[in-house]
Amino acid sequence: MSEPTLVNTPEVSGAALLILTKHASGLNVPYPHWIGGNGVDQGPSYCRPCADAKVAAGEAEYVDGGWQQENDGCCHCETCGCLLEYTLTEYGAAEEIDHYLTTELSAPVSTEEAFHIAKMLEHDETNADAITIAIKAAELIKSAATLQPLNPA
Ligand SMILES: [Zn+2]
Repeated sequence: MSEPTLVNTPEVSGAALLILTKHASGLNVPYPHWIGGNGVDQGPSYCRPCADAKVAAGEAEYVDGGWQQENDGCCHCETCGCLLEYTLTEYGAAEEIDHYLTTELSAPVSTEEAFHIAKMLEHDETNADAITIAIKAAELIKSAATLQPLNPA
């Protein structure tokens, strides 16, 4: 028996992406908001309640955003740390690939982890490193699902 050869085709990448997005589908990921006003730092991203809280506290004059933005990495609320929707820049995607190449993935793959890896692959579905990482994650998700008892008592 010879080792099965892993062929990186668009089908394989698409199948891995499907497993990852399905695993992450239970997540509620809001779009980022920003705060504005005189002398207010518009850099950080917030979820809507945290952005509103800044205005209510008088730290900002208004709330902006509520749509997708390109990011140099994943996006989290500055205040509460919750995951926010994003797409990756070229730089951001390369950073994520670097991160996952040096981090050993282990089961269980969290829903947030699946979300991050899916974003990385979505940036460039032909990137061999991204595909390899996504397949590894998808296989871990699949094997964990198989181990789940069908009828937990
Ligand atoms: Zn928040």
